[in-house]
Order: sequence, then C-alpha cells, then structure tokens
Amino acid sequence: MELYLPAEELGRGTLVLAGRALPDSVSGLRPQVLEAFDRMLTDFTAATGLTADGLEDAEADAVLRLPSERDEHPTGYAVDVGIWEGDALYPIDGRGASGWFAGHAARYGFVVRYPAGKEDRTGVASAPWHLRYVGQPHAALMAEKGYCLEEYLDWLRTFAWDARHLRCTLDGTEYELYFVPAESDVTVLPVPQGLPREISGDNRDGYIVTLTREDLPPQKTDADTAPAEGDAG
Ligand SMILES: [Zn+2]
Repeated sequence: MELYLPAEELGRGTLVLAGRALPDSVSGLRPQVLEAFDRMLTDFTAATGLTADGLEDAEADAVLRLPSERDEHPTGYAVDVGIWEGDALYPIDGRGASGWFAGHAARYGFVVRYPAGKEDRTGVASAPWHLRYVGQPHAALMAEKGYCLEEYLDWLRTFAWDARHLRCTLDGTEYELYFVPAESDVTVLPVPQGLPREISGDNRDGYIVTLTREDLPPQKTDADTAPAEGDAG
C-alpha cells in the first residue's frame, strides 16, 4: 500500500535533525520519552546509589546549553541530565558514575547526541549531559556502529526502499528499515500492509521507515526441552 505524506511530515519523528523549523515544537519531553527517561533514572539509581534528574529548561538554557543544542530541545526528544549532590543538581560530565549513561542509555532508546570526537559531524562541542531519544532499533544501532545522528542518517539513506533494506534483530523483535527521499509537495511512501511501522522524517530530505515483526518463531533452547505439562509425578 502507499501512504501520502504532506511536506510538513518531514519535520516529525524521533530522527529529526534540529536547526530547521519544526512543525510541532513542544516544551518538555514527549510522553514516550518521559516514560523511557524515568525507567533509565530508576535503573541508574539501582546501579549506582545516586539520584539523577532532568535539568529545568530555563536554568539549563541560561547556564549550560550550547546554541545548536538549544535548537534541539523543542523536538521534545532531548533532555539534559544532572546528578543530585545535596541540594544541587550537577550536569553530568561523562566521568565517574555519570559515565553510566553513555554506556547504558541506548538500552532505553537514548544516545549522547553530541559526543566528544564527533564535533566535525555534529557541529557542536561535546555535551555529555545532553541525551537524545531516538527509540529502537536506532539507539542500539548507533551505539553498535559508534555513529552520531548525522552519520547514522547518512548510513540509513543507503538502504533505499526499492533496493536492499537494513534488517536487524533486537530482543526478539526483527526490524526492517529503509529510506524514501521526500518530494517537494507530497511524498508517496510505499509500505507493506499489516506490519507495525514507524515513520520518521529527517527534517532534511527524506523519511526513514521502520517495520517491526514481533511474531518470530521462538528459538529452540535447552530450556524449551523441559518435560511437557502432565509428565511430572
Ligand atoms: Zn541539552
């Protein structure tokens, strides 16, 4: 089947690049981002005994945020993380216990958006406190490849919808991804019927389609060969 996407859809989705106008800027985090963020903070505390939190927008804007980083917060997918020490919340710097986030964020769908060593691609100085939600499988793929968002989008566009698609499996879910270039007015997006899908514009020149298949046949393991019910006793 085909979907018809108006041009403004190019600015929606978890993979949008900030810096160009967004059709639906928000203040604060979107609900699915907040849910993932809360899970991550709970696990951070369980792992380190410390308490972390998101920095208040106004405060972070005034003292912390880099100009280009500031553009990304209205997407609703970016959050600045701090760790409580007494009454003060200190932005994480990636060292010591705060390094937990760089190592674990991908599990919750987040990436360090402006990592050290990628300044030439992101155009932004290292900002270890600034996490960006991209969801799955994108966060896992970016972590595995060591890509920043700009590099990841450049890679994805090599998987055109009418050629070889990108396939990967994560936690029992199979993903299939492909790129469709945007037309200036309405883009006709080919998608298979009946598969759960997520579509994200890149806020540049195309769409990334992510299909999921969760009904994979269970893989046979030793645990599966236990006696069937009724055999016991
Ligand atoms: Zn930020």
